[in-house]
Amino acid sequence: MENNQTEKINLLIIGSGPAGYTAAIYAARANLKPVLYQGIQPGGQLTITTDVENYPGFPEGIQGPEMMIQFEKQAQRMGADLRYGLATKVDFSQKPYKVWIDEEKLLEADAVIIATGASAKWLGIESEQRFNGYGVSACAVCDGFFFRGKEVAIVGAGDTAAEEALYLSKLCSTVHMFIRRDEMRASKIMQDRVKKTDNIKMYWNTETQEILGDKTVNAVRIKNIKTAEEETLPIKGFFVAIGHHPNSDIFKGWIDMDEEGYIKTCPGSSKTNIEGVFASGDVQDKIYRQAITAAGSGCMAALDAERYLSENGLH
Ligand code: NDP
Repeated sequence: MENNQTEKINLLIIGSGPAGYTAAIYAARANLKPVLYQGIQPGGQLTITTDVENYPGFPEGIQGPEMMIQFEKQAQRMGADLRYGLATKVDFSQKPYKVWIDEEKLLEADAVIIATGASAKWLGIESEQRFNGYGVSACAVCDGFFFRGKEVAIVGAGDTAAEEALYLSKLCSTVHMFIRRDEMRASKIMQDRVKKTDNIKMYWNTETQEILGDKTVNAVRIKNIKTAEEETLPIKGFFVAIGHHPNSDIFKGWIDMDEEGYIKTCPGSSKTNIEGVFASGDVQDKIYRQAITAAGSGCMAALDAERYLSENGLH
């Protein structure tokens, strides 16, 4: 199955968010002839957001999908070889490294940049999907601004939810926070901050039943799972902060990760435990998760890959 479809390349970039495209731009300009596979969601998480107003260089803001088209065009113009396809399996036991695309095509690459990103977890209710981008968001830092002075809700009880609730409390009139148990998972200090913030209203043992609205969100129906009491709150924004999962499954067993599956990189670089394999963007960052930080780390990965290839006589 593999032999007739094997292709040998210099640098493979897996993923097409800000990290992957930025790595491709730098690598192409350094004449590394990068091949980039775009994965299941070309453009990554930004393709499911609306306005991006915090990426420097776009004073009027830009739509997330449009921004990723611009990234893609720039990578293409620099000469990166952009392809549809999903990396489905790797073998990093020897050089050149093997990566299978769509379970059939085999690539052998001297260096690999992993930029497969992370995906937000969702509640899984129908109305959440229907209003996604129309009042429902998984990123307060990205979208909180659109709800200035308005009432919003946030679901989740970890550090991210606490941090995002605090962020929203500075912009919005009231933040209703739905916690499914009678305690929070967040660190004590973050819990204390949330509890001390006057305009954050906490709802314990609470589940979201339905997000309501017409074209955009205007209310949410919740249920206390202990008392079975239901309540409808008028809100304009509904934020989901119940965690992310890094898209790192195919690298398990090869690349060092933390217990949640985030790839470990050497501090201050994009190097992984395997020489010549680099990681950038959200797949190795559970703290910042911004387009600009992902792009920055994609640049680091391309520079690290270039150095590795030239030091090893591979470029
Ligand atoms: P976590 O996994 O820590 O927390 C997820 C939260 O969402 C939990 O409270 C969980 O509830 C809740 N949840 C999960 N599924 C549902 C659901 N279906 N309905 C309602 N609630 C749900 O994710 P985070 O993103 O908050 O944090 C990830 C990691 O990153 C953690 O290690 C965290 O400490 C770290 N982090 C650190 C920061 C910092 O140091 N500044 C900032 C942000 C994150 P339950 O508790 O009941 O399971």
